[in-house]
Amino acid sequence: MNQSPFIKQLVLVGGGHANVQVLKKLCMNGIKGLHTILISEHFEATYSGMTPGYIHEDFSKNEISIDLQRLCFNAGATFIKDKVINLDTHYQELKLQNFPNIVYDLLSINTGSISNTKKINIEGSSKYFFVKPISLLVKNLKYIDQIIRNKNNKIVIIGGGVASYELAFSLKRRYQTPLEITILGKKILEEKNLNKKTKNNLKKIAKNFGIKEYLGEVIKISEKYITLNNGEKINCDLSLVSTGASNEKWLLDSNLLKDEKGFIKVDTNLLSINEKNIFVTGDACSIENKPRPKSGVMAVRQGEVLKENIFFKLTGKNLIKFKPQKNWLYLIGTYKNYALLNYFFLSFHSQWCWELKKQIDKNFINKFKFINNTQMSKRNFELENFKNTKMHCQGCGSKVSKNTLINYIKKTSDNIYLRDSSIITNKSLKILQTIDHIKLFSSLNPFDFGKISYLHSQNDILAAGGEVKSLSVSLNIPFSENSVEKFYLEYFMEGIKFEADKDKCIISSGHSFQSIEPGITLTLNGEIESGVSKNSAKAGDLIYLSKPLGTGYLLAAYFNNSDMLSSNDFEKIINNLKKGNFFAVNAAKISGSRTMTDISGFGLSSHLIDICLSSNLSSELILSSEILLNSNIDLLRIFQSTGFKNNYKSSREYIKISENHPFKNILFDPQTNGPMLIAIEKQNQKIFENYFLNKSDVKPILIGRFIDKLEKAISVIE
Ligand SMILES: Cc1cc2nc3c(=O)[nH]c(=O)nc-3n(C[C@H](O)[C@H](O)[C@H](O)COP(=O)(O)OP(=O)(O)OC[C@H]3O[C@@H](n4cnc5c(N)ncnc54)[C@H](O)[C@@H]3O)c2cc1C
Repeated sequence: MNQSPFIKQLVLVGGGHANVQVLKKLCMNGIKGLHTILISEHFEATYSGMTPGYIHEDFSKNEISIDLQRLCFNAGATFIKDKVINLDTHYQELKLQNFPNIVYDLLSINTGSISNTKKINIEGSSKYFFVKPISLLVKNLKYIDQIIRNKNNKIVIIGGGVASYELAFSLKRRYQTPLEITILGKKILEEKNLNKKTKNNLKKIAKNFGIKEYLGEVIKISEKYITLNNGEKINCDLSLVSTGASNEKWLLDSNLLKDEKGFIKVDTNLLSINEKNIFVTGDACSIENKPRPKSGVMAVRQGEVLKENIFFKLTGKNLIKFKPQKNWLYLIGTYKNYALLNYFFLSFHSQWCWELKKQIDKNFINKFKFINNTQMSKRNFELENFKNTKMHCQGCGSKVSKNTLINYIKKTSDNIYLRDSSIITNKSLKILQTIDHIKLFSSLNPFDFGKISYLHSQNDILAAGGEVKSLSVSLNIPFSENSVEKFYLEYFMEGIKFEADKDKCIISSGHSFQSIEPGITLTLNGEIESGVSKNSAKAGDLIYLSKPLGTGYLLAAYFNNSDMLSSNDFEKIINNLKKGNFFAVNAAKISGSRTMTDISGFGLSSHLIDICLSSNLSSELILSSEILLNSNIDLLRIFQSTGFKNNYKSSREYIKISENHPFKNILFDPQTNGPMLIAIEKQNQKIFENYFLNKSDVKPILIGRFIDKLEKAISVIE
């Protein structure tokens, strides 16, 4: 049994072109004692080189994106989808927008840049989008589509750099409608790395596309026009801001040393000049005495050095130097299957340049695809001084350190003396009680997991007609010290508290210990408001689910690196897991229902069979894709989670269904925080559906009805 503790926390902020390479290295090389977290704003990272190709529909969104959750899963890291909003280098602590603070031992910042709009006054009514960060441009494309597809449009791209030209070409190719594009810049094509022939070629291509160029400095963006500093007004329906780059406020406010433009100064090892446990790469940094234009190429190159230097720093070796090039290869997409190549004095515009660009870009992005690759053997390294770290002897019962506990409890309650038990007053003598344990899904952030584990347990109380009043919790924290121990304790507890507070539920007692398998055990106590049972269904009652099914096989598919699931699909799974059943149960009660159960690890069939047997009825189901969280039926056919087989064995004989029914497997799929299965009298159907829709914006899923008892408890209609 591997009980080597995590003793250091590496935090990567931003899934930029450099940090993703660190994670890729961790996929193939483990460092004993290291715990890694990636914090990034989106589930996927956008590869800048292929973005214009995505705009003019040569590539799909998946082809230009790196799935960060999956990358973290394969790297053994934890992924947190959030935005860092403050850096305190004294306490080595990051503040996040939505999640609790995180302490780092080593930090790597690769957050790109934002469009610099300091000198532009933007009126509220105007339609504009920033081109940087590039991930935001990709997200906003659907809104740009809505504006442009409606009518003839005048678009102004503010900024006269090469990115503006590439963007203008790709927009011209994307939209069939006549589109008037103007590139408006204080300077036009002044990048010193572009040779004369390339500049002429770019201008010629722009002319062929009917793109106008205009010299001027923008001071204001209004709804229908743009104002220049000489007072001139230029008509425009939509502006895209592709001005120079700048850093976000939290970096500008930090005490990291910056250059005159606000970029973090780093040495040739890519370490901050004044904080030697902080690496900064990509657009966010500026190499001291060697400034270079911001580009994805530079960020990729820095990533090659960053991934080595992070390993060297952690394992106590000498760092290597980044030698920034003065010039590099530019490949700019132009017409369909054409690109313009610029390298020193060379300039070509040809189809082979496009083929070369495609090959280079695909080589990079494909490094981050894990197509059905489940087995990755890792080389193992150790943190510097790891050998001096004591393995857990187990004599202490693997308890979490007292300091970590006290510090957390001091912040959140008055129980600083760590009383082991609490007095709880109840209105009635009857207490509903339930216990559940779930293991942390690898790479999922423990805050979200805390929420999910609470909602999973809450289902048992809700399904019995009760409300949660208090809870006891036992946390399995991974073997760890200091920053890592604190991270798991706080994240687990804050996630649980987030949901418990909505129920005004008291946390009455807790226990925590270190274990090889992180997870949460919750005992919930509830009071019965109105008795609900499984044995009160009547023939004719309609059968509803409060949300779709599929978390079991979908998580199995995702964590088997199936390319049939994207990061968007994963986001949908997680959102489903974080959705509680409180309103669904209220809707059922208001509609007079006294029969419900929650679908748990035993799957839909097992729970429905329980109701049928105890109510002395059978059920008739009509299954459609509405019941599935993900409509791709092949996923349901191919993937099964571990509990599937046992569920199948214990329920199959009670079910009449054809062997090749496309939805058969969903009957046996184990659920975490699954939906409520609710019986509603036909006459109350409208009340139930309307209340449900009102409270949750979606309709409940009608899957069948109860009928008089037949030989089989469940018949699935073909
Ligand atoms: C239209 C266009 C086309 C371009 N084409 C090319 C090209 O062909 N070749 C090229 O070399 N360059 C190109 N560039 C330049 C390129 O986009 C940037 O220089 C490059 O993306 C910078 O990479 P990066 O690794 O620094 O950060 P990014 O790739 O921008 O990644 C930063 C990541 O950090 C996340 N993040 C940001 N702030 C936070 C925060 N506070 N907390 C958590 N996460 C955060 C972001 O969401 C993002 O995922 C292009 C730019 C534009 C606008």
